[in-house]
Amino acid sequence: MKLMAQYVKRHRWMFLTALLFLTIETMADLLQPTLMSLIVDNGVKEADVGQILYYGLIMFLIALAGAFGAVMRNIFASRTSQLIGKEMRADLFKKVQTLSLENIDRLQPASIITRITNDVTQIQDFINGCMRIMVKAPITCIGAILLIIIQTPRQIPVMAVILIAAFILIGSNMKLGYPLFGVMQEKLDQLNNVSREFLASIRVVKAFNAESQEEEKFEAASRNLGQATASAMKVMAVFSPLINLSVNFGIIVLLWMSRSQDSVQIGRLMASVNYMTQILFSMGMISNILNTAVRAIASAGRISQVLEETPAQKKAARPVCPQWRGEISFSDVSFSYAGAGKEALSHVDFLAKPGETIGIIGPTGSGKTTLVNLVPRFYDASGGSVKIDGVDVTGISEEELRRAVAIVPQKALLFTGTILENLRWGRKDADEGEIRRAAAIACAASLVSQMKDGYDTLLGQGGVNLSGGQKQRLSLARALVRRPRILILDDCTSALDAGTEALVLEGLRRELKGVTVLLISQRISTVARTDRILCLEKGRVQGFGSHEELMEVCPAYRAIYHSQIGGKQHG
Ligand code: ADP
Ligand code: MG
Repeated sequence: MKLMAQYVKRHRWMFLTALLFLTIETMADLLQPTLMSLIVDNGVKEADVGQILYYGLIMFLIALAGAFGAVMRNIFASRTSQLIGKEMRADLFKKVQTLSLENIDRLQPASIITRITNDVTQIQDFINGCMRIMVKAPITCIGAILLIIIQTPRQIPVMAVILIAAFILIGSNMKLGYPLFGVMQEKLDQLNNVSREFLASIRVVKAFNAESQEEEKFEAASRNLGQATASAMKVMAVFSPLINLSVNFGIIVLLWMSRSQDSVQIGRLMASVNYMTQILFSMGMISNILNTAVRAIASAGRISQVLEETPAQKKAARPVCPQWRGEISFSDVSFSYAGAGKEALSHVDFLAKPGETIGIIGPTGSGKTTLVNLVPRFYDASGGSVKIDGVDVTGISEEELRRAVAIVPQKALLFTGTILENLRWGRKDADEGEIRRAAAIACAASLVSQMKDGYDTLLGQGGVNLSGGQKQRLSLARALVRRPRILILDDCTSALDAGTEALVLEGLRRELKGVTVLLISQRISTVARTDRILCLEKGRVQGFGSHEELMEVCPAYRAIYHSQIGGKQHG
């Protein structure tokens, strides 16, 4: 609620203008039955055409004013709610960008997407709904009651009974319905999650023929939602006719009473009946908006959760801006993922000298990716310190750090857009020469020239229209465009054939003098070419040194060597 109020406040003038027009609209609606009764009682009964035309004209003008009010109200209400939705989405998006991967792991990307889309829409609908009925319902209710009282005071007791009955019914409806709509929202979320997971992993699902299994999951979620909706709707279904019934019953009583009292004029009677229906209608609207309110409040809670999330990493206090030399040192670094039992890294110690290429090898799950992710501060070490040129990375501003360090992730991710746009992602002001050079080093130049539109070739989302190796080369070129001091390659040549890989590594060596490189690979032949090698197992350093040294002293490294090369080179 607080969240919504905050956004509405920013647009309070537009909001209030909408309400002003809504008031005009409501007043016009409210006057119609009274004018009608005047026409009937003064004009029709007396057969006075002049009176009919006179009141008819007033009625027409008021209707015109009402229509104008309705149109303007609509414009302002839609604008305001659209604006609020847009701002909320933008704020969420901005906030998510400030969050660290640790926060995002916790919130889950899928759920963040629902919050930015569905939850914002929910709130937008609610705010729009408010501007439609916020003043309308009470004005109609009170106005109609007052007009009935003034025009036909004898009906007050009947009115009172009916209204009390209707209020009690609506009250119990909400009380029973409120929690049920909450449950419904929860089930809808679950269904969303299942669908999203399925769509995100559709290739794997197909590959494993797991469609039926996924279908079951979907059906279960869908069934749960169905049941929750059904019980919520049941409550609504029982109450809505009951409310109708009580008001209709009241109308009958009114008619009955006026039948025995011939002093009541027919026009006024018509007006009373009309007002009763207006009251009924606005009560229906109130209960409707309260239902959307339940959802909107749930959504607002979920949005606030993101907006109030404190970034897991503290911001660096001072911006340091030296010319980085590119020395990386890990001293006694430990790290565990939030919620994970065991440490992903324990007591890691090593130093990479400026310009050195360090190979990192180890079985899958040994912590290689985790280790390199600590350098650009995707995560912060839980113990020990990671330093660049002797400065703790937590003391370097994010911008500065990301400028100095480029990372080519294990899974190459490209964006929808042309190849050129993708490569420029690294640095917006890179000129074409620099881009061509980066592409040449990454052995991507030939693949670009084979494309029919060259650098202007459009890539699909995530680069779906490229092979794994092509994506890897472009993603490497993108990192090179940034001219980093530290380059991290997370097994990013795994999809290249041995020949191309050798070419790429040779190019890096030749062209990137002075750049410190952390090169993760599963292949011993790849890391064997680096200056020194860090051998990891279960998050612990098993050995650090040149290929020859490790072959001497590190049994874990020897084991990998023999499993890949066998005895054939050794003998
Ligand atoms: P490698 O890159 O050597 O294959 P990782 O660094 O990816 O290994 O993983 C090291 C360990 O940390 C593994 O046990 C893995 O299950 C765990 N791990 C990796 N990423 C996450 C994460 N985001 N959340 C929780 N645990 C993770
Ligand atoms: Mg990895």
